[in-house]
Amino acid sequence: MIEVEHLTKRYGAHTAVEDVSFRCEPGTVTGFLGPNGAGKSTTMRMICGMTAPTSGGARVAGRPYRDLPNPGREIGVLLDASAQHAGRTGREALAVAALTMGVDRRQVAAKLDLVGLNQTAARRRVGAYSLGMRQRLGLALALLGDPRVLILDEPANGLDPEGIFWMRGLLRDFADRGGTVLLSSHLLREVEAVADRLVVIGGGRVVAQAARDELLAGA
Ligand code: ADP
Ligand code: ADP
Repeated sequence: MIEVEHLTKRYGAHTAVEDVSFRCEPGTVTGFLGPNGAGKSTTMRMICGMTAPTSGGARVAGRPYRDLPNPGREIGVLLDASAQHAGRTGREALAVAALTMGVDRRQVAAKLDLVGLNQTAARRRVGAYSLGMRQRLGLALALLGDPRVLILDEPANGLDPEGIFWMRGLLRDFADRGGTVLLSSHLLREVEAVADRLVVIGGGRVVAQAARDELLAGA
């Protein structure tokens, strides 16, 4: 469960996010849709405690992110896959995260398998990965602690059509097992096939939110 209540973020005179409120329920995928610059990343960074809100707040599993006893086990986060771990191999990146989070190291191979990064890829430096491979690694990192909540910012960027289809199946399965997913995209086609609900953001404000079928009925 994710609860976002009246989140606002200003950078000087510029308002990036204004009074954004929504909820993501267990067992559902919420698509967070809006053009580049709409405020999706800023909202997600505030939910994950990486950017301090100007006002308002967010809770994950009933608590602010920073109050979660072991956030990595509760919530899997993929923000800006292009920036991750360039100097390590994929396997090293996962092994370090497993150590930090107190996750059984056997999960490293299990999660590499799950996201389709084979042994050869896992031994290469992340700096040499394509963006699609980084998204897969980012998803493996997000899933490493078997969290109940996933927050994924534009995870389809750089994935090929087969990869997008694969990820949809993975996220649907995660939600069908009771997980909560918040998935952002600037493209309706990337979220409409998997999302139960859509939250549409533009210019930092929520412009629409409803069940997908309800929202798309008039489209
Ligand atoms: P999206 O993820 O939807 O593309 P962002 O949340 O990245 O949008 O950005 C929302 C707005 O806030 C944009 O106008 C962006 O330039 C601005 N912004 C984001 N981060 C910062 C920052 N650290 N400092 C100043 N402005 C920022
Ligand atoms: P915060 O931790 O407050 O979100 P960041 O570390 O993201 O700040 O950004 C530091 C500075 O970099 C910002 O104050 C801003 O000047 C600049 N910046 C970063 N991202 C953006 C963006 N998307 N648009 C405009 N300016 C940005």
